[in-house]
Amino acid sequence: MSGWVERIKREGLSLRLTFLIMLIISLGMTVCLLVASFLSFRSFRALSDATDTYIELQNTAQVLLNASDYLTEEAQCYTVLVDRVHLDRYMDEALVKKRREKAVEAMQEKLPESDALDELKKAMQDSVALMDREYYAMLLVLTAKGDNDIPEPMREVTLSDKDLALSRGGKLALARTMMHDSKYYDQKNMVRRDLENCLENLRVGTHAAQNGSEHQMKTDLTWLMILVILQSLFLILLLWLTTSLGINPLLTAVEHIKKDQRLPIVGANEFRYLAGTYNKMYSAYKKSIDNLSFKASHDELTGTYNRSGFDLIKGSVDLSTTAFLLFDADKFKSVNDSFGHEVGDKVLKKIARILVEHFRTDDYVCRIGGDEFIVLMVHVKQEVRHLIEHKVVQINRDLSDISDNVPPITLSAGVCLCEDGLNADQMLHRSDIALYYVKDHGRNDCCFYRQDMEHVSKVV
Ligand code: GH3
Ligand code: MG
Repeated sequence: MSGWVERIKREGLSLRLTFLIMLIISLGMTVCLLVASFLSFRSFRALSDATDTYIELQNTAQVLLNASDYLTEEAQCYTVLVDRVHLDRYMDEALVKKRREKAVEAMQEKLPESDALDELKKAMQDSVALMDREYYAMLLVLTAKGDNDIPEPMREVTLSDKDLALSRGGKLALARTMMHDSKYYDQKNMVRRDLENCLENLRVGTHAAQNGSEHQMKTDLTWLMILVILQSLFLILLLWLTTSLGINPLLTAVEHIKKDQRLPIVGANEFRYLAGTYNKMYSAYKKSIDNLSFKASHDELTGTYNRSGFDLIKGSVDLSTTAFLLFDADKFKSVNDSFGHEVGDKVLKKIARILVEHFRTDDYVCRIGGDEFIVLMVHVKQEVRHLIEHKVVQINRDLSDISDNVPPITLSAGVCLCEDGLNADQMLHRSDIALYYVKDHGRNDCCFYRQDMEHVSKVV
């Protein structure tokens, strides 16, 4: 495990592996969220269905009670008002509309084998039992009225001899009594009680179903919430990983490339690989550029700056504190003629080496012609005059030393000291005039530019 962590610290996380894992986790979480949402929705539907069923069945039970009350009311009206229309309405309800039977069927369908259904059936039975009494009372009225149009179900009812023997008024009075006495209401109350029990059972059953659904819904919603929190955390993690593995290294890389710098090795493994490869290419590129610019600005024979190098340097130094010292080898042609070109090259190399030795590392030594060198002494003032004279003497002394088997040579030097307002070409021109003044006056010496030298000048 620790080896694994060390490896990640060293090489960085693999972008491909990280995003593959993230993709799998993200898909997994999405599936879990969908399942949790579906389960929550299902629990909610169950809760809502349980409530709907309760309301619907409550209405169903109420329908049975209403139908029973309707029959009672019509039977009572018939016995009191002796109006056939009430008997017909009664029969229409009992034989055609049959709301009570339909209510029982509806509950049978929704809640088979339930206590509520048993109670409803009991209410139905009690209601049917009550009908026997109602049929009897209404038959009494029909008989009293001498109405022979007896509805079908009532034909099976037989009046007792005693009741048959009653007068018309007696029969009507008995019918009214039967429909309004305590016995009738006791029976009627039994129907009501059965229905109340039915409703109570419905309530209990519904509450149990609601509680079950509610509990399930709470559980499902808790899971849904946990998953949403986890997914939010996962999104934050994903954002952090994307930033630290990809975006930040990319922005940093762009900044470094703009500044022409090597790239830091940070971020994902793939970015580190890219940065490493870029750095290698960058180093190789820089090396070749350095080589190219070195070759372009340096003299191959002596290793000093060449004419191009001199052109670059003269544009970058502060001319107001720079002295131009133009050197030319005296009678160099004769060296070539006497000892050959190769020996002449050795003399040139020696001149360059001695010039470099006699000036500071800040100063620039350049070979700008065959046997012509220029030294730019930087950060100097006019007081440097004696030092320059002394240096030239020393240089010529060293060049006369033949212990290294190199033929002796002397240099003539024309100097232009720093002066405000002069540009590099003017300073070069002045040092050139001074040099040729020296050449004209015996060589192996050093002269500082003066105005009066102009008339003996020669173009280099
Ligand atoms: P003066 O004192 O008037 O300067 O005389 P000089 O003979 O030195 O004349 P000049 O400076 O004009 O001659 C420079 C000579 O340097 C001419 C050329 O043959 C020789 N030369 C130029 N480049 C090279 C080189 O790379 N190697 C060698 N060996 N000689 C070179
Ligand atoms: Mg010369």
